[in-house]
Amino acid sequence: MAEIAFYNVTKRYGDTVAVDNASFTVADNEFFCFFGPPLSGKSTILRLILGLEKPDVGEILIDGKVVNAVSPAQRNIAMVFQNLALFPHMSAADNIRFPLIERNEASAIIEARLKDAAEKLHIVHILHKMPGQLSGGERQRVAIARALVRDPAAYLMDDPISALDARLREETRVELKRIQREAGRTLIYVTHDQEEAMSVADRMAILEHGVIRQVGTPVEIYDNPATTYVARFLGSPTMNILPVQRVGEGYEAASGALRIQSQTVAGATELGLRPEDLRVQPFAGKGSPATVAEVEPLGGYTVVTLTAGDVSLHAMVRGQPDLRVGVQVTLSCDPAKVIYFGASGTTLPRMRGVAQ
Ligand code: ADP
Ligand code: MG
Repeated sequence: MAEIAFYNVTKRYGDTVAVDNASFTVADNEFFCFFGPPLSGKSTILRLILGLEKPDVGEILIDGKVVNAVSPAQRNIAMVFQNLALFPHMSAADNIRFPLIERNEASAIIEARLKDAAEKLHIVHILHKMPGQLSGGERQRVAIARALVRDPAAYLMDDPISALDARLREETRVELKRIQREAGRTLIYVTHDQEEAMSVADRMAILEHGVIRQVGTPVEIYDNPATTYVARFLGSPTMNILPVQRVGEGYEAASGALRIQSQTVAGATELGLRPEDLRVQPFAGKGSPATVAEVEPLGGYTVVTLTAGDVSLHAMVRGQPDLRVGVQVTLSCDPAKVIYFGASGTTLPRMRGVAQ
């Protein structure tokens, strides 16, 4: 078992602050994702957990014990690196056996673990092959199996399936989730792919320039992003974030094309509304219209790009609505779905139970 925690950890490389005063706790058996753009500090966090790097400030704890001075080998954490490095001159089976042979495990144990990992990862039929004879996806599974046999306290995976094509990525992420559940181990996972993060993570942390902006379940973060950065980072198309003005009994955005009944939200400068929460109807001849600029039918739903004044909005509409480019439409939404942001981009407390 392993609970992994950071307390106020900072790691610098020269002038670069790779990890900036990070605090979090990953629970035992949790599938925890670090999600952020390139260079946001994801890999550095994994290297700190593994013990390949030491923090400049702060404490790293495994199961409640400070491990800053503990060597990587003693931490018993297995890493699957971004550029998975299988030994090219060894068969898949020998690659998987390798960490156990290094530890002088008895051969009966080695063979039992190999069989177990190979079955879990569905690679029994390729164990005799050399890495050069395997597809990218197969190599990835062998690398994961090699981490699995070590029976570590926790696994770290750095964007482990980014090299796979889209269909195999989806398949593998479902399997990873199953393997983690069955193995009953903590898994800390790094990805830059939002769909992947949302689909596998029990909880996730969103990084921006080494700073953890929010920690929560994917749904919590999607529904209640802490800042405009987080709000824009999750969801496709991204959340509509529009400047707002207080007008009468509510707020107006998009040159009056979107009007929301609401009490005053102190300090509100922008509103956020997910594309699936923006309603699009034929122009009713009342209020200010928006104009359809683009229609993308995607089968089950359609992405509609709209313009109103100098802003552009996205709506996700179920099915195939009868909308053509250039037509005028009326926009509306459930006021309870609207998020308000202050001048610094921080989410303001939500207005609940507001009548429309
Ligand atoms: P990510 O994995 O999210 O892409 P990294 O953790 O690799 O981000 O990098 C975070 C920041 O730290 C980046 O600005 C990167 O350039 C810097 N960095 C990472 N490793 C080193 C290193 N060994 N030496 C100097 N700078 C580094
Ligand atoms: Mg990285």
